[in-house]
Amino acid sequence: MLVYIIIFALIVAVAILGYRLYMTKSYYKYDKDRLNKVEEDFAKKQSDSEEALEKLQKIAYTNATTNIWNIDYFLAKSEEAFQREPGASYTLLTFNIMNIGKINQLFGPTEGDKVVYFTAQTLKNALKGTNIYAQVQSNLFCLLLKNKTEADVLELVNSLTKTLLEYDESIQIKAAFGIYQITDIKMPVLDMINQANLAQKFVKESDDANYQFFTDELNQRFLENKRMSEEMEKALEEHKFVMFLQPMIDLHSYKIVSAEALVRWDYPGKGMLSPYAFLPLFESTSLIQKLDYYMWEECCKTIRRWIDNKMEPVPITMNISPAHLQSSKFIDYLSSLMDRYLIQKKWIVLELPERGLTNISEQAGNIIRRLTEEGFQLCIDNFGSISSPLNLLKDFPIQRIKLDRSFLARNATSGEGLEIIRYLIAMAKELDFTVITEGIETAEQVKFLVEIGCDIGQGYYFSKPVDLR
Ligand code: C2E
Ligand code: MG
Repeated sequence: MLVYIIIFALIVAVAILGYRLYMTKSYYKYDKDRLNKVEEDFAKKQSDSEEALEKLQKIAYTNATTNIWNIDYFLAKSEEAFQREPGASYTLLTFNIMNIGKINQLFGPTEGDKVVYFTAQTLKNALKGTNIYAQVQSNLFCLLLKNKTEADVLELVNSLTKTLLEYDESIQIKAAFGIYQITDIKMPVLDMINQANLAQKFVKESDDANYQFFTDELNQRFLENKRMSEEMEKALEEHKFVMFLQPMIDLHSYKIVSAEALVRWDYPGKGMLSPYAFLPLFESTSLIQKLDYYMWEECCKTIRRWIDNKMEPVPITMNISPAHLQSSKFIDYLSSLMDRYLIQKKWIVLELPERGLTNISEQAGNIIRRLTEEGFQLCIDNFGSISSPLNLLKDFPIQRIKLDRSFLARNATSGEGLEIIRYLIAMAKELDFTVITEGIETAEQVKFLVEIGCDIGQGYYFSKPVDLR
C-alpha cells in the first residue's frame, strides 16, 4: 500500500513540475515576443522622431519660397565651422540683385519672384557640398568660404555673375557683391554679414566691377553717410540747404531766359557742400524726395517774391530726381505748392535726367504724359550722357533737351565730336525741340553753338550758380 502511495505521490509531483515547467516556458516565450515587439516599437518611434526632428530642422532652416538655407542655418553652421577649424581663413560674401526694383517695375512682381528663385538656385548649384550659404532676406544672399584666396573669391563672383546674366535675354540680372575677409572669428556672425553688406551697398549699377571689399576707409564713409542722413532732417528744418540759381542765356540776344535751381548744403565747418557730396546718398534712400520737395518750395517762394516785388520773373528750372517717377503723388504735391504760392505753370520747368527716362516702366511713362497734359514744361536733362538718346525724343512728349556738359567737354576737342553735336542739334531742331547746351566755358564754344543753331546756353562762361539770398 505504501508503495502505491509513494508511486502516486511521485506521479503527482512530476505532473506538477511538468505543468510548472510548461507554464514557465510558455510565459517566458510570451514575454520575449512582447519585449521584442516593444523594442521594435520603441526603435521605430525613435527613428520616426529623429526623422521628424530632421524634418522640423529642415523646415526651420529653409526658406519656404526658394527652398534654400535661411539666416538661422547660416548663423548656426558658420559658428560650428569656426569652432571646428578656428585656424582656417574665412571670407564672407553677401550679394543682392541691385536692379530687382526695375525688374519688378518693368516685368511685374511675378517675374521678380522668378528672378529671386533663379538666383537662389544659382547659388545652391554653385555651392553644393559642404559650403555654407543662405538667403538671408528676400533680396539678400550670403555665403561663407573657407581657405580661399582673393583670386578664388573673385572667380566665384564672376561665375555667379555670368550664370545670372544667362537668365533671359531681355532681363539682365545684375548682382552686387560685398566681400568681408574675416579677421576675428569671435565677432558675431551677424556683424560679419553687416560688414559685407555695407561694402556691397557701395557697388553702383554704373560701376565696372560689381563687387566691393570691406575696408576701414569704406567703413568711415559709411559712418559719415549715416551721420549725414541723420543730420539732414534737422538741416531741412534749419534751412541749411540753399538754393543757388544759374542763369540760362539766349545765345542770340544774351538775355537771361531762365535759371536752374541747384542745391547746396551749408554744412557747419565745411562751407557750401556740392550736391555731388550728398545727392548720391540721398538718392539711395527716400531722403531725396524730402530734399526735392524742399527745393521746389524754395523755387515757388522765390518766384512769388519776384512777383511781389514787381520784378519780371524768369522761369525756374527744377531738378526732378528719377525716384519721383515711381508714383504720381509728387504731381499733387507740386500742384498744391503752386496753388499755395499762386504760381503759374509758365514760371516752372521740370528737368528730368536722361538716366531716369531710359527703360522706364509704363507707370513712369504715364506720369510723364500726365505732367505734359497738366501743362508742365519738361526738359530732358543731361541729354547725350547715355548711348542712344535719340530714342527718347520720339518716346516722350517733351519739347526741350539740355545737352549734358560732359558731352560738350568730351567732344569739344575733336572735329568728329563737334560734328556729332552739330548733327544732334540739327536733328533736335528738325523735330522742333528747344536745345539748351550746358557747361559752356569759352567764347569759342558759344560761337560754335550759335553757328550750329543752339538756342540757349548755360555755363561758367556766363555765370556760375549764384546765391540770391
Ligand atoms: P545738372 O542738373 O546737370 O546741373 C548742372 C551742373 O553743372 C551743376 O552742378 C552746375 O553747377 C554745373 N555747371 C554748370 N555750368 C558749368 C560749367 O561751365 N562748367 C562746369 N564744370 N560745371 C558747370 P551742381 O550744381 O554741382 O549740380 C550737380 C547735379 O546735382 C546737377 O546736375 C543735378 O543733377 C543735381 N542737382 C542739383 N540740385 C538738385 C536738386 O535740387 N534736386 C535734384 N534732384 N538734383 C539736383
Ligand atoms: Mg539739371
